[in-house]
Amino acid sequence: MRLPDAMVGGVFEPAWDLYDRSCRLRELSRLRRSQWDGPETVGARQQEKLRAIIRHAAETCAYYRDRWAAAGIDAATVRTVADLRRLPILTKDDIRQHQDALVSSRYRKQDLRRAKTGGSTGVSLEVYCDEPGIQKRAAAALRSDEWSGWRLGQPMAAAWGNPPVPRTWKARLRARLKDRIIYLDTMRIDEPAIVRFLAEWDRLRPGLLFGHAHSLFILAEYLLANGRTLRPSGIVATSMMLLEPERRVIEQACAGVPVTNRYGCEEVSLIACECEQHRGLHLNADHVITEFLRDDGSPCAPGEDGRLVVTELINHGQPLIRYELGDRGVPSDRACPCGRGLPLMEQVTGRTADFLRAEGGYRVQGISIIENTLTKLPGIRQMQIVQEEPLRLRVHLVPGPGWGADVAAELETILRGILGPGMVIDLVPGERIPQEKNGKYRFTICRV
Ligand SMILES: [Zn+2]
Repeated sequence: MRLPDAMVGGVFEPAWDLYDRSCRLRELSRLRRSQWDGPETVGARQQEKLRAIIRHAAETCAYYRDRWAAAGIDAATVRTVADLRRLPILTKDDIRQHQDALVSSRYRKQDLRRAKTGGSTGVSLEVYCDEPGIQKRAAAALRSDEWSGWRLGQPMAAAWGNPPVPRTWKARLRARLKDRIIYLDTMRIDEPAIVRFLAEWDRLRPGLLFGHAHSLFILAEYLLANGRTLRPSGIVATSMMLLEPERRVIEQACAGVPVTNRYGCEEVSLIACECEQHRGLHLNADHVITEFLRDDGSPCAPGEDGRLVVTELINHGQPLIRYELGDRGVPSDRACPCGRGLPLMEQVTGRTADFLRAEGGYRVQGISIIENTLTKLPGIRQMQIVQEEPLRLRVHLVPGPGWGADVAAELETILRGILGPGMVIDLVPGERIPQEKNGKYRFTICRV
């Protein structure tokens, strides 16, 4: 029996929070209201939270206390986002090496929630968060789910790697009463998996379809080829860059429902998400300060691509202050027509796609290479370019209808046009592209 959505959203969800002593839905109502505050109010609130987390980190985390003292910085003088720039950057290596010193002395590590990430380097990284922080992150995710058109209480469908399996009675009860989620396991998307997923879809009729952008695209291609249409209330694409041509295919396979592009990471969860206007991504300013930096550390101008550095304002267990994500993005000074006071970013540019190095020594954004090849040439279902030597590219690809010697030749011509005439190109057709451990695909990988 399928439970009515209104009952799940109005009864089971709040009851579960009460039982769990969770602040999740309280935070959600607060975020629903505060998103309409003007930019000045949003900024003032952010600054106030910044001062609190800096004080907390300086007083209770040995790592920050020592490192800031060594740099001659008095934490009490860090009062604004501009002041924040005086603090050193926290790298993934810093976290790996100083795991325990980053945990606040007010918490025991074993009481914190652990998250493990693969990261773009393939080396794993462990981070910790306190329980209220986890609940607030969940609330921010729910608010951005709502921007897509989904409503609390509607079931969800996820195209995701390694779906969790409920093991305890509590987890099973929760899955049945409240979470109501079906998965398409992106670690292995083949026809039987999609057929199973669609049978579950018909049973549960999810209100939200979410997942890695490229996995949603593969699902959409299957739907179009088999004359099927899905009609969720909202679609959220996350965890990797959403390419415009892929967005169009997903929307076409889902009765024109617009795709909502979202950006986040394991370490701090939601960073930015499109609203129903789809004109850039609203930053999750209540929870995270996002900086866009040039290579010399100075702030980017609006429209200028830069390194992304985040400071999370809600995790007191293991505060991340000026954490460099390893991604790149473009800040914006536009106001969104929706009227929300949350600032916008234009796009995430350097994600799951490394920059490749051209023959002339300059770097070329992986995503623009893909846009000029995969999305333009016929007969290529999937592609991945690996550069392990300066003048050699290995191109893994999954051929589709239309693939042939002429397309192969054109692909090589385009790649040499972008990266230099001296590039040796090895085309490696196959049935699948190797995936990362976390189920994401990387379009371009640079090891030089
Ligand atoms: Zn908006």
